[in-house]
Amino acid sequence: MCHLTLQNEKGNAWRIVWSLEKGGVPTSEFPSHFLNHSVRKSVTGGKNRVIYYVHTPGLITLTYVLPLTAKDFSHVLWQSATECAVVFPGGVGVLPWMIPEGAEIAKATGEMMKEYEAVVWAYHGLFVSGADFDSTFGLMHTIKKAANIYIKARSYGAGITQTITDDNLRAIGKAFGVTIREEFWRN
Ligand SMILES: [Zn+2]
Repeated sequence: MCHLTLQNEKGNAWRIVWSLEKGGVPTSEFPSHFLNHSVRKSVTGGKNRVIYYVHTPGLITLTYVLPLTAKDFSHVLWQSATECAVVFPGGVGVLPWMIPEGAEIAKATGEMMKEYEAVVWAYHGLFVSGADFDSTFGLMHTIKKAANIYIKARSYGAGITQTITDDNLRAIGKAFGVTIREEFWRN
């Protein structure tokens, strides 16, 4: 982990605040981190100040199993733990595999982060954003737990025999006063 900050108002230079001693350099995903800071800051009116990125094995596993769409991932995750629809009612974006370096993946992720606070990178990891580190880490952890639960449930002999229904999701939305993205529901 390291901490970098913008060096100037134009946003085309950075400096190290801490870490990266002995000649260390930022991750190859640095452009994605910085660009998405600016995207999330702008779409949340300055509220989102944290971008957090992780390699989550369970969620990565699902990118080999589920169709790589926001609809499929969001719905499966919402069904895999009751808290999910409350924690990320807007769902998660899913980016197909891209080279994890440079401006191209940064821009593609940024397009999705205009709409989603969490974006899955196929066969690679998860970008999440939030107002502070606690809520951002919590979002990542909720998604990660749900993915692991789904994998375990599918791995049992009989597979998944019952689940959270769309009616249940509707009830969750009503009880917690959240708008769960309806176009991702199955019925
Ligand atoms: Zn990575």
